[in-house]
Amino acid sequence: MKQTIKYKGKRIVVDTKKKIRKGVCEICGREGKTHIHHWRYEFPLKEVRENPNLALLNTTEVCFTCHNFANAMRKLYVECPADIFINLHEEYEKNQGHKTKRKKYYEQL
Ligand SMILES: [Zn+2]
Repeated sequence: MKQTIKYKGKRIVVDTKKKIRKGVCEICGREGKTHIHHWRYEFPLKEVRENPNLALLNTTEVCFTCHNFANAMRKLYVECPADIFINLHEEYEKNQGHKTKRKKYYEQL
């Protein structure tokens, strides 16, 4: 069954036995129009074009609302190194002059 899916914003035609979209959000269960969310883009676009079914890996069928949420999560966990939060926090503490408080904060983590 030939179906299309977007990968890094590009249209990819895949060929699978299963339907990619069932019309049900896998996160909230809402029925209707769905999108395929990529939790991460593991392969370069060139490789996916050569083996289109790779575009199906690391995906979840989601509704519009959950897709926005999932994209935000991907940005937080994949695209932003965790250190960015620590650096921002250190910067904040420096400005506030709360060095000792910061140490306590990290001890809790
Ligand atoms: Zn949803």
